[in-house]
Amino acid sequence: MGAEKPEMSIFVVVDDKNVPLYRVMWISSLPHFCGEEDCSREGQYEVRLEQGESVWASLAQRDEVLAAMEKWQGGMGQPDEEWEE
Ligand SMILES: [Zn+2]
Repeated sequence: MGAEKPEMSIFVVVDDKNVPLYRVMWISSLPHFCGEEDCSREGQYEVRLEQGESVWASLAQRDEVLAAMEKWQGGMGQPDEEWEE
């Protein structure tokens, strides 16, 4: 018995929000830097969602999101198979 959860959650927690994986458009590979003095997002990673929303992840959270998305994609099966004649 491993530590793996029996069911993969469709949600990942970023910045205290439960974000559904299917809403994630992209994830920044670099920490945010805009040069603004009072920027509270510096060093955080932007996780872009549908409809122009963003949430902000720490490095550890970003890695979690990436890992969760990879697992999630892998666990969704191969939709292409239905096309086989
Ligand atoms: Zn900024």
